[in-house]
Amino acid sequence: MPTYGFRCARCGPFDVRRSMTELSELERCPTCAGPASRVFGAPALRAVAPAMRRALDAQERSAHQPAVVTSTPPSHRRTPISTDPRHARLPRP
Ligand SMILES: [Zn+2]
Repeated sequence: MPTYGFRCARCGPFDVRRSMTELSELERCPTCAGPASRVFGAPALRAVAPAMRRALDAQERSAHQPAVVTSTPPSHRRTPISTDPRHARLPRP
């Protein structure tokens, strides 16, 4: 998902991550909620670490097509059993 630069007249520049279909030329400033206009600049040439890229791609995919599971993941933790006698008086399901 690309990052776009915007500038608020009061608060200054900020970045917004949007898909190309959700992008509008006018955004709300995250600080003052005032109108902010798009700023065109050089493309971001920062390299994103491969693990971060995979995580971001998976996050974006799951927003539109959440993975369907048929069971809960196996639990490796046992529920601790309380030895407090007051807990025995609590209602049971
Ligand atoms: Zn602002």
